[in-house]
Amino acid sequence: MFESLSDRLASTLKDLRGKGRLSDADVDATCREIRLALLEADVALPVVRAFITRIKDRAKGAEVSGALNPAQQVVKIVNEELVGILGGETRRLTYAKTAPTVIMLAGLQGAGKTTLAGKLAAWLRKQGHTPVLVACDLQRPNAVQQLQVVGERAGVPVFAPEPGSGVGDPVDVARRGIVEARARQHDVVIVDTAGRLGIDTELMQQAADIRDAVSPDEILFVVDAMIGQDAVNTATAFQEGVGFTGVVLTKLDGDARGGAALSVREVTGRPILFASTGEKLEDFDVFHPDRMASRILG
Ligand code: GDP
Repeated sequence: MFESLSDRLASTLKDLRGKGRLSDADVDATCREIRLALLEADVALPVVRAFITRIKDRAKGAEVSGALNPAQQVVKIVNEELVGILGGETRRLTYAKTAPTVIMLAGLQGAGKTTLAGKLAAWLRKQGHTPVLVACDLQRPNAVQQLQVVGERAGVPVFAPEPGSGVGDPVDVARRGIVEARARQHDVVIVDTAGRLGIDTELMQQAADIRDAVSPDEILFVVDAMIGQDAVNTATAFQEGVGFTGVVLTKLDGDARGGAALSVREVTGRPILFASTGEKLEDFDVFHPDRMASRILG
């Protein structure tokens, strides 16, 4: 996903090598290049600005330390600031003190929520949990069926309204799903919700109603890393309309620029918990800011 950003940063930083001392002009030139690379990768402008300011301040004020030459020092600063943008420490899932832990998924249609529900369930199972999926996307044709397929693949049960039962209220399904999960002693409930193609108030209201009905321990905002700058706008809209405790980036295997996804943490202040990198169940992992930064910096 971040190949071209990675290449550009690598070649910019390579230009510094061999310099015994870095003048302020060297730092300015490097920062200009980094700025362009980030903007070209679609990283949101305010995030780029803040990032560059921090790097400039630190690089210009840096004492030449014995162990690192000036170029290495700049690389270290860029790396640390990138880890910071991505959230710093790895943020683990929060579990409820009393089971079940309720995890609600929210995001636009096509973001990858249903796929993620299966991946998360499979991952939780591997960690020794006994998750159940609850199908609250009653809008998209086949969404319930798709979740059932995903659940089967992940080896976890799915709570869904009976076909033709006339149950059409996702809030009611969510509520009953939790009751059912508790009765069957599942320790994690993953609630899949409906998305729309764009932000609309009805969608936000429904998600907010589900949130109020099930009091989730985590609300994960699922966002397609390939939608460019819209990722930031969508995140902001969901934060205002529903609120969320964490972010899941999907489609990081794509070849789009993806920098907007790198901005979501900084813009919303919410940590990225997981990343999806493909359509298969196992194309999924905990998001580690430091590993991602190393990958980007090559
Ligand atoms: P939902 O509408 O949010 O529930 O989205 P879906 O889970 O149905 O996913 C939409 C499409 O994106 C499907 O074709 C998925 O197979 C695909 N998809 C989901 N996650 C990923 C991913 O990480 N990488 C790729 N390449 N495709 C994905």
